[in-house]
Amino acid sequence: MITSEVIVVGGGPAGSSCAWRLVRAGRETLLLDRAAFPRPKPCAGWITPRVLRALNLALEACPFGIRPIRTLHLHFPSFTIPLPTRQYAVRRVEFDAWLVGRSGVSVERHEVRRIRRENGGYVLDETWRCRTLVGAGGTTCPVRRAVFGDAPPRPAHGLVVALDAEFPQVVRDGRTHLWFGEAGLPGYAWYVPKEGGWVNVGIGGRISGLKARGVGLRWHWDRLLERLFEQGLVDDPRPVARGHAYPLRIDTGPIRRDGCYLLGDAAGLATVDLGEGIGPAVESGFLAAEAILRGTAYSVASIPRRSLPALLFPGLGRVARGVPPTAPG
Ligand SMILES: Cc1cc2nc3c(=O)[nH]c(=O)nc-3n(C[C@H](O)[C@H](O)[C@H](O)COP(=O)(O)OP(=O)(O)OC[C@H]3O[C@@H](n4cnc5c(N)ncnc54)[C@H](O)[C@@H]3O)c2cc1C
Repeated sequence: MITSEVIVVGGGPAGSSCAWRLVRAGRETLLLDRAAFPRPKPCAGWITPRVLRALNLALEACPFGIRPIRTLHLHFPSFTIPLPTRQYAVRRVEFDAWLVGRSGVSVERHEVRRIRRENGGYVLDETWRCRTLVGAGGTTCPVRRAVFGDAPPRPAHGLVVALDAEFPQVVRDGRTHLWFGEAGLPGYAWYVPKEGGWVNVGIGGRISGLKARGVGLRWHWDRLLERLFEQGLVDDPRPVARGHAYPLRIDTGPIRRDGCYLLGDAAGLATVDLGEGIGPAVESGFLAAEAILRGTAYSVASIPRRSLPALLFPGLGRVARGVPPTAPG
């Protein structure tokens, strides 16, 4: 049996942020992930200035490709708005691998399946033992299943399903486009150019809205790709799409119990308006680490529930919502 004081399950932005803070504080920490890093992750890779601040990252010093977005081209069925902004696009395959590496945590590749309690701690797959367990395994986190299995199921109207494809191609349109409500989509579609000649296209919507209309996301995806192909934005009208469902912050439910903490998508923290999940994952990672280190309460109340206020009124958002919990100095 391998023992570590803390075990973090999942090395996305939530798990790696938590691990980073714990390792920097000298806490014995092990991270288990079913994937080997760098690993692909379906995601448009849009991050906000708040994420860079939380991660203590200066734009010029970013060791991975990061593309500033100065204008968001927002398309509605009958009009378009160019919104001046200051956002960023990263490739998750690079971003996540760099975060895990920077954290300095020991990583083992393993898909966690069974978790049981023993002597006030946790045993994972009869191989690892810890006193403190961190569930950062995303939507289907095994820690949430095992330790919070009795929590009420997530409300159906708070689940988003999203599909994307990321591929290298000559970027002919360097602008970032978002399309809202196209063909009745209960969500939005995107075209996001990345550094180094990569493009991410995707689409996401609330599952309940799609069911109510009786139209699947694949139907919307095919229409989107047809249109982007016709407009010359993508070269391949049938790129391989990947994706999954993830919860919005409708009703978070319990996120701490008996030395066990839930973060990021495992806790259901993506913003209710735009489904932004990277920032909430990072911030919940730091907040949980602080709670573990100080033995204090774990609360995600300081993490914004909505993305639009900061996007539309950047100055106001910062004053009203304060600074995010920050990385170790
Ligand atoms: C198509 C799409 C586009 C999106 N676009 C954006 C965007 O542009 N901006 C944004 O902010 N958010 C976006 N999101 C949401 C965002 O990707 C997530 O909210 C965010 O990744 C959550 O981070 P996390 O660390 O909680 O989980 P994840 O990033 O999902 O990481 C979970 C980790 O746990 C590991 N894992 C899972 N199960 C196990 C197991 N049993 N054992 C061991 N390891 C396990 C996985 O391999 C993974 O590495 C998008 C989501 C989708 C699906």
